[in-house]
Amino acid sequence: MINSTDFLKSKGLKVTPQRLAIFNVLSHTTCHPSAETIYNALQETFPTMSLATVYKTLDCFKKNNLVQELNVGEDSFRYDVTVDSHPHLICVECHEVSDMESKILLNIREQVSTETKFKLITEQLYFYGVCPDCQ
Ligand code: ZN
Ligand code: MN
Repeated sequence: MINSTDFLKSKGLKVTPQRLAIFNVLSHTTCHPSAETIYNALQETFPTMSLATVYKTLDCFKKNNLVQELNVGEDSFRYDVTVDSHPHLICVECHEVSDMESKILLNIREQVSTETKFKLITEQLYFYGVCPDCQ
């Protein structure tokens, strides 16, 4: 597997310790963290890093297609290193955001484009509910 440093370089980005740390947080979690969550996770190792830096870095990652931004209806966006479109499940109790198999999208896409004659670019699909742990 390609390491984060090489990956960032391959996307034409200058690799700084902060960029690397932020990318590593994202690539080692499945919990779709917000900028604040990433900031808090890095406080100990990067005490001088500001929340603004985290925002700026995430914005740069987004523009270079290294992350996708998820608007799950909270005050802040969530971030995902899986940039391909896939459905998400959101627990309204614990606010956990988890991935769902993307195969179900194929049928939905086909149906939507057939019915609307839209040439689809992408889609965001969110399911809200109460996760098994919170039930
Ligand atoms: Zn839950
Ligand atoms: Mn995801």
